[in-house]
Amino acid sequence: QLFIPLNFLGFVYREIRGAFANIERMFGLLDKEPLIEDIDNAKTEKLTEGVVSFEQVSFSYDSRPILDEVSFSVKSGQKVAIVGDSGAGKSTIVKLLFRFYDVVSGVIRIDGQDIRELSQDTLRQAIAIVPQDTVLFNDTLIENVRYGRPSATDAEIAEAIKMAHLGRFIESLPEGGETRVGERGLKLSGGEKQRVAIARAILKRAPILVFDEATSSLDSHSEQAILTALKEVAKGHTSLVIAHRLSTVVDADQILVLSQGRVVETGTHTSLLNAGGLYAKLWRIQQE
Ligand code: ATP
Repeated sequence: QLFIPLNFLGFVYREIRGAFANIERMFGLLDKEPLIEDIDNAKTEKLTEGVVSFEQVSFSYDSRPILDEVSFSVKSGQKVAIVGDSGAGKSTIVKLLFRFYDVVSGVIRIDGQDIRELSQDTLRQAIAIVPQDTVLFNDTLIENVRYGRPSATDAEIAEAIKMAHLGRFIESLPEGGETRVGERGLKLSGGEKQRVAIARAILKRAPILVFDEATSSLDSHSEQAILTALKEVAKGHTSLVIAHRLSTVVDADQILVLSQGRVVETGTHTSLLNAGGLYAKLWRIQQE
């Protein structure tokens, strides 16, 4: 009598554990237990503007300096791109904004509030991330999109799918949106997975969107579809783009050029090209 219920419980337990492992992998950062805790009376009021500022932020991993007095500010609705060599500290900026770690010195603010004073839930509700490598759960494609906001209606999901330029891809699947994807289902390409992540981000309706561009190159059709989708999502949102291809950043309101944990240049694409510094050099190399 107990065999079937226990077997079922075992199955549920494995599914839940699998889902948590997936979420951790999704951010690729929880290699150790997070040490961050909410302060007493942490603020829970929803953040709506998406104004981001880093004020002389320094950070070390195990006493190894990674960011050195990084300062920048992003107005509501602006697009800021972060560029720089591998290891310069670009992803670290996003991890700190998400408060996976606390800064060693300096302050990070969203809508003028020190993020250490916010509840982690409030902070994370304010930021939607499109990671480099999106994790898909063993479920249908529609349910994978719904994960962005479980309370979303079917119509909202359909709209997000359309905006993320996933519509035609879904139509081509044998069972459409009901097709099972993930490790035990249909494997999606890197570009298709990123568009699922974009659809999730649209559903989340957070004021800040972070896009971590894939380092591995996508075919140009896929890349174009992603860039067009992102432009639509970014409307009315503050967006922070970690860019590996400079072609992605040409239209940014502000580009931060990071080198060994320091912001060495800031400006628009044109002003940085005219300045003839590191950005101009990176641009020349990529053009070749
Ligand atoms: P890429 O373009 O290759 O993704 P990046 O500019 O995003 O690089 P970061 O990932 O921010 O660079 O890493 C900055 C530095 O911090 C690197 O030298 C990296 O080795 C180190 N680093 C990153 N994560 C950790 C960690 N969890 N523990 C210790 N050091 C880390």
